[in-house]
Amino acid sequence: MNSSSAPTLVIVGSVGIDTIETPREKRIEILGGSVSYACAAASFFVQTGMVGVVGTDFPAEHRELWERMGIDLAGLQTEEGKTFRWSGVYEENMDNRETLVTELNVFETFSPELPEAYRDAPYLFLGNIAPALQLHVLEQVHSPKFVLIDTMDLWINIARDELVEVVGKCDMLTLNESEARLFTGTDSLAEAADILLGMGPRFVLIKKGESGSMLVSSETSFSIPAYKLDYFKDPTGAGDTFAGGLMGALAESGKVDEEAIRRAMVYGSVTAAFGVEEFSLERLATLDRIQIDARVEEFKASRLAE
Ligand code: AMP
Repeated sequence: MNSSSAPTLVIVGSVGIDTIETPREKRIEILGGSVSYACAAASFFVQTGMVGVVGTDFPAEHRELWERMGIDLAGLQTEEGKTFRWSGVYEENMDNRETLVTELNVFETFSPELPEAYRDAPYLFLGNIAPALQLHVLEQVHSPKFVLIDTMDLWINIARDELVEVVGKCDMLTLNESEARLFTGTDSLAEAADILLGMGPRFVLIKKGESGSMLVSSETSFSIPAYKLDYFKDPTGAGDTFAGGLMGALAESGKVDEEAIRRAMVYGSVTAAFGVEEFSLERLATLDRIQIDARVEEFKASRLAE
């Protein structure tokens, strides 16, 4: 996407320097963070603006990569100090991982401020950061057509009231199965989705890992399987890539109805499946829209054949 026009989609989240160990490989100090994955995925579809923070130690090559992908960086703040660091190790089956280190650094005092050109963006994705900061972003936008919010167990545990407040102001909430259960106190996903819809969003999107994802509204429920991968290297950021691709495809369609969201889910799922083929943004950096569209067609054909 060319980076001269005001963004159609604005995404806020974390920028991290990650150290990741899988059973086969260890990678030190690579580019990560929720906003990094989400903006990279969205960049295949629409002009996307990044809202986040990095420290003065942030390598120029990462910024250059985002620029090459056409991501608008006017909302990226640089603060004196070190960039957020995260380190995790995956178990043998890669289903579970353990966080070894979380160093907030400049993220600790982050206050997202939107450039003027971002405030009229019709699509907004509030990536996983403290609910108070997500609210602060919502206060700065004028009248977005569609707002997606992501969260994690940490905020459900320590900032539940603020999270409920901000979820009530969004159009769609995305979270994974275990978070949906934690947030609502029920084991039944159908019941959990009902309780979450009761908080105000029109749609709830529950991610079920290898089992795909489920979109629920007050009228209907729709599931898609995960794209089946022959191999993958690193699942870090898959949820952010999925959500970024989904919002990019939705913003590109200009619509906000259920049919458009279903279609966008397929794009999100396919983009995330590419992302996990390599560490960090390495695969997304070489990806193009033709490859995404081809895999979407293949995905649709395999579903019809089922
Ligand atoms: P995911 O695999 O979706 O959990 O996303 C992983 C990314 O989230 C990594 O690249 C980390 O840099 C980033 N991350 C890890 N912990 C946090 C946290 N507490 N807050 C914000 N971002 C985080």
